[in-house]
Amino acid sequence: MATINDNFLKLKAGYLFPEIGRRVNAFCDAHAEANVIKLGIGDVTEPLPGAIREALHSAVDEMGANQSFRGYGPEQGYDFLRNAIAENDYQSRGCDVSADEIFISDGSKCDTGNILDIFGPNNTVAVQDPVYPVYVDTNVMAGRTGEADEDGRYAGLTYLPCTVENDFTPNVPEQPVDMIYLCYPNNPTGSVATKETLKKWVDYALENGSLILFDAAYEAFITDEEIPHSIYEIDGARDCAIEFRSFSKNSGFTGTRCAFTVVPKSLKGKTADGSETDIHSLWNRRQSTKFNGVSYIIQRGAEAAYSEAGKQQIGALIDFYLTNARILNEGLQSVGIDTYGGVNAPYIWLKTPEGMKSWEFFDHLLDKAHLVGTPGSGFGASGEGYFRLSAFNSRANVEEAVTRLKKLIG
Ligand SMILES: *Cc1c(COP(=O)(O)O)cnc(C)c1O
Repeated sequence: MATINDNFLKLKAGYLFPEIGRRVNAFCDAHAEANVIKLGIGDVTEPLPGAIREALHSAVDEMGANQSFRGYGPEQGYDFLRNAIAENDYQSRGCDVSADEIFISDGSKCDTGNILDIFGPNNTVAVQDPVYPVYVDTNVMAGRTGEADEDGRYAGLTYLPCTVENDFTPNVPEQPVDMIYLCYPNNPTGSVATKETLKKWVDYALENGSLILFDAAYEAFITDEEIPHSIYEIDGARDCAIEFRSFSKNSGFTGTRCAFTVVPKSLKGKTADGSETDIHSLWNRRQSTKFNGVSYIIQRGAEAAYSEAGKQQIGALIDFYLTNARILNEGLQSVGIDTYGGVNAPYIWLKTPEGMKSWEFFDHLLDKAHLVGTPGSGFGASGEGYFRLSAFNSRANVEEAVTRLKKLIG
């Protein structure tokens, strides 16, 4: 009989969202009449912008004619999209990133997991706590951790608690760590990192030979002019950081699928014999072997996000979600709830009232107000006593949610 990768058995069984789904389904079965509003999973709700839909349609038509039909594309993505990204997301902000350092993919979830293929099994890893669960679980699968304790903390990982005291932006660790995941604007806390904060991380990484895995999936939600959009706005980041971006949350692409990863050519890693080698060519090799590129049609859709009309429509979409976040924030604060985030991010991180545990508040909210959110403890031990509400919903649902919250808590 074939043996299995035993690391999978270390994974905590009840992954957060299935457990939420289970409790919501049980509630709905028992209360068929209830109008349950879901502010839980971080998934967009508004339609694809028109400029993107038009680009998708015309790419479909191209595929329908002999002279413009395309088969396999480049594994790294088409130049038209890589160039648009390099120009609009990086060069326009003064970041030194070239088109051939950008790898198009079908999602940042897969990229943040797949990147581990090219790094050694003995690297030490640090994550923010609470954290996007993908970073942790993929490292468990890859064998970089021991077993989990009662609070769900895996042996061998360095957890960086994000607390009220540090404004949900933890400081660099005392000891050297090989790989560090940073997510800004943050899921789940909605916190952002200033230039000074990111500079501390880049300086730490350069000093200790660490690699920063920077997840900027929510970059488009930054409204504050002082907040950097990319880690490459910091001097030295080209020598210590990989950046992940996605069209999912800004362009409504969660169901359409397109993302990209930036691997600078100057980035180095260490081989077993202690010599330096470049990481860009390893990722290129990995993608060329295990990935066959994103659909031409989808890449044309993503390209349209950078057209004048596309930029304007995406701006309106982001505004819409951020207004939802403001309405939620104001409603919660008006009944005395402490809230964080929701200004440069589509998530509101709130302190549960009366010291309730995260899951206790989840059940309370579902039972009494027919509202679904995400228990903070599901994102990590330091999330206990907190709760995440997402601004991804219709205006009517957000307003109704606030009315119910005020009635329940006020
Ligand atoms: C939604 C999200 C992503 C994007 O994932 P895709 O696979 O590109 O849809 C990446 N990182 C975080 C933290 C997210 O919340």
